Amino acid sequence: HSAPRYRGRFAPSPTGDLHAGSLLAALGSWLLARRAGGEWWVRIEDLDPPREVPGAASRQLQMLAACALVPDAPVVCQSSRHALYEAALAQLLSDRLAFECHCSRSDLAATGGVHRECVARRRRADPAVRLRVPDGSVIGFHDALQGFQQQDVAASVGDFVLRRADGLWAYQLAVVVDDAAQQVTDVVRGADLLDSTPRQILLQRRLGLPTPRYLHLPLVTDAAGRKLSKSEGDAAVDPRRPVQALNAAWQRLGQVATLVPADGSPADWLRSAAANFDPDLIRAGVQRTAASTCGSH
Ligand code: GLU
Repeated sequence: HSAPRYRGRFAPSPTGDLHAGSLLAALGSWLLARRAGGEWWVRIEDLDPPREVPGAASRQLQMLAACALVPDAPVVCQSSRHALYEAALAQLLSDRLAFECHCSRSDLAATGGVHRECVARRRRADPAVRLRVPDGSVIGFHDALQGFQQQDVAASVGDFVLRRADGLWAYQLAVVVDDAAQQVTDVVRGADLLDSTPRQILLQRRLGLPTPRYLHLPLVTDAAGRKLSKSEGDAAVDPRRPVQALNAAWQRLGQVATLVPADGSPADWLRSAAANFDPDLIRAGVQRTAASTCGSH
């Protein structure tokens, strides 16, 4: 099958109900895909059972359906794709681009969050696997909204985890494998992931995978300026009032056109939104640059 010209995606983790920030990412990625005449896919990132909330994935999908945000392909769940992550990890290990790390919690505490080498004196039964990040691994990329971004991955993150000591896959590995396997050409998501992008690009290069285009939307914050979080149970979007939620997301995307859908249904609203959407109106907002962030992940 030939590569798509534009394929976007929305990839929520089922750690809670969709809030205004998630809906912004869903609607923003959908609008940009439609504008480009492209496809929009949905992937459930359910690789961290301890952080998941029972029923959250199906409620997220119901919320999308209530908003008439219908994916162009069957929804994929990461929990059914372990073999893909396993294969990528095996490739990195056999290429000696990744290594087993036996560091204990206290070893890691002493690194100040930036892992440079495994200092463990004792082997663990359950080592983590990390990507080797040599000095000078500086990754720059162009973000369609935030502009040029650059991060010294070695200095600010260091060797990062691909598979955790508890056996769970790291988000960074799974997202890179899936975006490539699903031939995603355009990643549109919240700016909270801006400082993950250099790690993902580095990993794409190590795995010989293409790098998609990136656009990081402004974050939605609460009155105190705090980023909304699904796992904190922040203001879930009300599925009984989809048009109201879509309108709020529309305004947060900087759009000024007043949408008056004739029949008032979400599908009708989306048609009108797709016709009136002006990507130039999205404001990047005040963003720290990836370069200034450091290894808190
Ligand atoms: N699963 C991540 C989240 O819900 C988003 C991943 C991505 O868009 O790359 O925050």
